[in-house]
Amino acid sequence: MPGSAARSCAGCPVLERAQALDAADPLAAYRDRFSLPEGLIYLDGNSLGALPKATPARLAEVVGGEWGEGLIRSWNDADWIGMPQRIGGKIAPLIGAQPHEVIAADSTSVNLFKLIAAALQMRTGRDAILSEPGNFPTDLYMIAGLEAQGLATLRLAHREKLAEALDGDVALLLLTHVHYKTGALHDMAALTRAAHDAGALVLWDLSHSAGALPVDLNGCGADFAVGCGYKYLCGGPGAPAFAFVAERHHVALAQPLTGWMGHAAPFAFTDDYAPAPGMDRLLCGTPPILGLAALEVGADLINEIGVARLYAKSQALSEFFRKCLRDFGVALDIASPAHQAQRGSQLSFRHANAYAVCQALIARGVIGDFRAPDILRLGFAPAYLRFADMAEAARHLMQVLATGEWQAERFQTRSAVT
Ligand SMILES: *Cc1c(COP(=O)(O)O)cnc(C)c1O
Repeated sequence: MPGSAARSCAGCPVLERAQALDAADPLAAYRDRFSLPEGLIYLDGNSLGALPKATPARLAEVVGGEWGEGLIRSWNDADWIGMPQRIGGKIAPLIGAQPHEVIAADSTSVNLFKLIAAALQMRTGRDAILSEPGNFPTDLYMIAGLEAQGLATLRLAHREKLAEALDGDVALLLLTHVHYKTGALHDMAALTRAAHDAGALVLWDLSHSAGALPVDLNGCGADFAVGCGYKYLCGGPGAPAFAFVAERHHVALAQPLTGWMGHAAPFAFTDDYAPAPGMDRLLCGTPPILGLAALEVGADLINEIGVARLYAKSQALSEFFRKCLRDFGVALDIASPAHQAQRGSQLSFRHANAYAVCQALIARGVIGDFRAPDILRLGFAPAYLRFADMAEAARHLMQVLATGEWQAERFQTRSAVT
């Protein structure tokens, strides 16, 4: 059948099973709340979440009404000034935090910098920041930047050796909860406990967790967290990120980007800096209102669906996708944990020509992504994907591999953003 396979799976048993699962899916109707191009199978919602249909109208209102008509009055009248806290409060229930422990601000990278530096100051006499090799680059680069300033020492240990590497020099353990490349999940409770036992603080990067699986920061006793607004939260390209600080640290926390918006009284215009109480001191400059407005629509929608239901569906989607691959006879090396409880909302596969395979899939309207050097990464954003998409994507992957069409010249050339 490979090679002569039809362009569509209509009538094939795998698709019929998928359609039955879609018919029984309690989240099926939410797909219509997103704007997705006809015929496209989007398996990259873990890189840039899809556009909620409500976002353009909300942005038009903020631009035309609040900005165009309200002008500067909208800082108060439309509560622009309260947006970082308000949206932080909406992200809080997704990550096991109290509303006043989360703020939407800056990028994930900048929030990492603020919180790593804050942790160093809370653990005087210790300067090691422990992470794992292969963590998301920006996490490691932000530590390296502080190291170049003479403020930190980067220490790396493989995931099974992290507990051993926690000694009296470690100020902070910084890990990404769901690994961006493999989807492997860390045991947040156990690692947080191990770090605390060693006298260190813990900062979790939730970029691939928030909105995809339940996270219990306070239940695990986490100190700090950061995460991304444009992945599963569907806040749009470059959406503001979020930061979490456990309430018990709110008084002691000092971060180095002491901009005026984090001041206790920004509009008193005094010469001396005094940090605002609580999470407000995490702010630096003027909040990006348009980006926050789009993020709020995404966070509201993800909250409405509910993270427990999203997680259940993402697991069902990824397990069904694997079953489809088996049924189509596709044998690919899995780079993600095979057991669903040990991974987030994605499946990654190893292939020596993963880049070209990914490009060939994109040419067929199946958007996944490539992660160097050899990973084909498929994200299963549960808010808008169907089981039928799984069946079709698996069939396309089977055909791309069976026909060898990925070997075509046009699939070999790399562009700047992959
Ligand atoms: C996507 C991602 C980021 C993104 O950081 P930005 O500052 O928004 O570019 C950070 N950390 C992880 C783990 C990510 O997956």
